[in-house]
Amino acid sequence: MKFVSTRDVTRKEYNPSEVIKAGIAPDGGLFFPTEIPKFNKYELIGMMPLSYADRAARVIGAYLTDLDRADIEKSCRAAYCDSSFPGGAAPVVSAGGKYFLELYHGPTCAFKDMALQLMPRLLALSVKRSGASGDAVILVATSGDTGKAALEGFADVEGTRIAVFFPAGGVSEIQKKQMCTQRGGNVAVFGVEGNFDDCQSAVKSVLCDAAMREYLRERGCFFSSANSINFGRLVPQVAYYVSASLDIGEECCVTVPTGNFGNILAAYMAKRSGAPIGKLICASNRNNVLTDFFNTGVYDRRRKFYLTSSPSMDILISSNLERLLWLVCGPEKTALYMRELKEEGAFSVDRSTLDILRRDFAAYYADEKQVSAAIAESWRKNAYLIDTHTAAGLHAAEEYKKETGDARPMLVVSTASPFKFAPAVCSALGIRSGDGFAAADALAEFTGKEIPAPISAIRGMPDRFTRTVSGADIASAVKSFI
Ligand SMILES: *Cc1c(COP(=O)(O)O)cnc(C)c1O
Repeated sequence: MKFVSTRDVTRKEYNPSEVIKAGIAPDGGLFFPTEIPKFNKYELIGMMPLSYADRAARVIGAYLTDLDRADIEKSCRAAYCDSSFPGGAAPVVSAGGKYFLELYHGPTCAFKDMALQLMPRLLALSVKRSGASGDAVILVATSGDTGKAALEGFADVEGTRIAVFFPAGGVSEIQKKQMCTQRGGNVAVFGVEGNFDDCQSAVKSVLCDAAMREYLRERGCFFSSANSINFGRLVPQVAYYVSASLDIGEECCVTVPTGNFGNILAAYMAKRSGAPIGKLICASNRNNVLTDFFNTGVYDRRRKFYLTSSPSMDILISSNLERLLWLVCGPEKTALYMRELKEEGAFSVDRSTLDILRRDFAAYYADEKQVSAAIAESWRKNAYLIDTHTAAGLHAAEEYKKETGDARPMLVVSTASPFKFAPAVCSALGIRSGDGFAAADALAEFTGKEIPAPISAIRGMPDRFTRTVSGADIASAVKSFI
């Protein structure tokens, strides 16, 4: 298996382990395999009796061909073990005539655990394979969920160190507690003055700073990435779509609550590799730039940015769309579109490209009222409790069914525990509640469901990390950490 950059017209090829180690291509493009591996009917049937971890190893092994198969299998079994995923790694449950793929039973109660419990192990194997020595230094700017999932994944993983930066006033009480109480000898967490954009641009400038790179090199370290631009985060996600389609046993459509377009792209890859998947429904919240794109062919980020009750989908630049564009239009046009997006804030694809995209994708969005209504209706009609992100998905799934009459089974991807977003879920259900932990209590009492162990465990725990830095101080914070 070889990989190329989505912006490279010369199609220079890279090995899988190089791709995982580097994170992003030197030209600013994203790595993607030259061919999506295919599973025939017999290979799919052969995966049916396997555990989730072993199914995942089959799928991931087909992409990461220069890593040892036995190592991948061992890594998957360790990542998706019962103690990390007590409810099962990726169970499919049915409620109200739909299937839900519950991806939130991991250590941080959001779907990012599915990739980030495994990815640090894949990175360690890739570094070993490339013969490099020294520690991979991971810097993460987070608006909440990614930071904690990355910390949990990388904590005490040999050959890695991780520093997470979050906007000091911009994360929820539970998210902040989750990060600031993180265990592990190779981790650091900092609040950053300002909002998420300030935090992200300050971290990016450190990552690209030549003097900082030299500083790391002198100490035998190098930067890598834990964001979904790294293919190592994408490939573990392909596995749960293949696995879910085996569990359902007939062709189904899939609705994915979408932000950076990583999760739904993984669903598309699973479809292209032979899993029986029909239409892919891209669900957005009020930040509906992708809904407009799939309906008109125009991607225009020059619009108002809304803070919503589904913050992990509050995003106007969906990085992984670049990989889909590359698959459909090739590197020349992709590089052009990305340049237009950067310079003008918008691009538009031609009619034939849009037609190709719309064969596989449909797109809908839910405003805040519709998110609330979906939570309330799911609970009242089906006693099935969902979070705000999943609610945007459920609303989109229903709009799609209403509009098309598509009778195939529908799988809605459930991306977070409702307890992680308890204040908004309580308000949708008409429960009076306070913030954070108090809202989780109120939700547990009202529904009779238990607060997930990873959330109740950190309550009242003293913070290990209390430092807040300014954007300009991030470089020195990284130095002190190294
Ligand atoms: C990250 C996240 C999403 C968006 O996923 P993408 O891969 O960025 O599209 C949706 N829901 C939750 C809960 C998330 O944490």
